[in-house]
Amino acid sequence: MEIIKNTQLLEQKIKDYKKANKTIGFTPTMGALHDGHISLVEPSLAENDLTIVSIFVNPTQFNEKSDLEKYPRNLDADADLLSKAGVDILYAPSVEGIYPDGSDYEVDIDLGNMVKVLEGEHRPGHFDGVLQVVKRLLDIVKPDHLYMGQKDFQQFSLIQAMIQKLQLPVNLRVCPIKRAANGLALSSRNQRLSKEATLLGSIIYMTLDHIKNNFHQKTVSEWKKWAIDQLDNDWSEPEYFEFSDGYSLEDVELQENHQYIVASTAVWIEKVRLIDNMIIKKVD
Ligand code: AMP
Repeated sequence: MEIIKNTQLLEQKIKDYKKANKTIGFTPTMGALHDGHISLVEPSLAENDLTIVSIFVNPTQFNEKSDLEKYPRNLDADADLLSKAGVDILYAPSVEGIYPDGSDYEVDIDLGNMVKVLEGEHRPGHFDGVLQVVKRLLDIVKPDHLYMGQKDFQQFSLIQAMIQKLQLPVNLRVCPIKRAANGLALSSRNQRLSKEATLLGSIIYMTLDHIKNNFHQKTVSEWKKWAIDQLDNDWSEPEYFEFSDGYSLEDVELQENHQYIVASTAVWIEKVRLIDNMIIKKVD
């Protein structure tokens, strides 16, 4: 595996690959890699001539400076994992490599309410940074296929909307949430949890799964109250629990009115903010 930190060097390589008609699969990450990230790399390896993974802790998507500072970083261990998985190129740029001085890379598109709900409501400006960095990375890497996780449901929904609005020449593939044996969704932030909290964190999965299996038994507002109550403990505090339309991310009031419903939550455990979601209903 090649590790490339210089953006111009990567761009030159990409030009050569494109000339040789090779297809490129791309997985953007912020590092501190785990099996969830590897589960995005695997289909990329199977479906493309070349697989590129980026590791870039994007400062513009952190609304809390302390969260950015505390974000786990370990390039050597990450490189090892990616190399063993069979990745061709690890792109690990500097902040200047992504946002050269004096340049403005804001993505000026109106995604309406989709940006404002859920994480958008609780992390102001977060998705401006996400759209900005993904657009920038797509411009540099020029992949045929982009691999993202359902773990960040609103994120992939917005990226899909951006791809459509800007007619970007890339196919988004969304991969299922990879979980620990107890159901806790894998996340780089889990590294900051104690062993005990990692076990207790299964309450998030159990809450979502219980709703999925019994959805018809209560109304949406009853389930919301029930979920908040489950997640509110001495050691855990829910920030929100919402049911949204899986296509538009609009609030769901009556389950009968929607073909596709996702439940999303953010929960604080030991000062770590964990997000998770589950598709509760999907009629194909
Ligand atoms: P991150 O490094 O957290 O920015 O995540 C990079 C990509 O990995 C995003 O597309 C995430 O949705 C995806 N991802 C993170 N955790 C998981 C997981 N547990 N299962 C599947 N994909 C994940």
